[in-house]
Amino acid sequence: MTDSVRHAENMARSEIAAVGKSLFNRGLTFGSTGNISVRLEDGGWLMTPTNVSMGELDPARLSRFDAKGNHVSGDAPTKEAVLHMAMYGQRQDAGAVVHLHSSHSVAVSMIEGIDPDDVLPPLTAYFVMRVGRMPLVPYWPPGDSQLARAVEKLAGKHHAVLLANHGPVVAGTTLANAQFATEELEETAKLFLMLRGMAIRPLTEQQVDDLRLRFDLK
Ligand code: ZN
Repeated sequence: MTDSVRHAENMARSEIAAVGKSLFNRGLTFGSTGNISVRLEDGGWLMTPTNVSMGELDPARLSRFDAKGNHVSGDAPTKEAVLHMAMYGQRQDAGAVVHLHSSHSVAVSMIEGIDPDDVLPPLTAYFVMRVGRMPLVPYWPPGDSQLARAVEKLAGKHHAVLLANHGPVVAGTTLANAQFATEELEETAKLFLMLRGMAIRPLTEQQVDDLRLRFDLK
């Protein structure tokens, strides 16, 4: 491993711990829930370990995977590693994945009658730009291989998916992008719940199309 590759990995380790702490301190994750992963230059990954608070991550103890997906060092990885791998497997551009059990997003995932192909309406421009059309993944128990398969089916077309009665899985080109998209999703879910029962005016199809053109969204 060259010095620059080692340096990049150390930076990624510190960034994962800092993002985990920030998410935890703001109540976006709790207990030992939620996990973060980052793809490294050598094709391997760093992932948050199982049974640890995102508020107290030790950069040196993160789970390290090689390019084939084998756990090679650090603490045992999260049981939800398969969700992350399902995203990376379908998205060459994914540099990081964030998965949370953030309350407002989970609440939306349990509303009867929401559109499973497009869970949240385009309430704001930033939701369209950072999240876009987000499908609902049917319920499977955590760690079940069927859950990973269901994510895999949708991940090619969507960098953000919402697991029913569970929480969002969001990929980004960088950890910052994955983090910001997850936060945008959580705030939009909160707005959506605040607006329940009210007549709302989301962006029109034309306004959404205009954003797609302007910002070159897929
Ligand atoms: Zn989970």
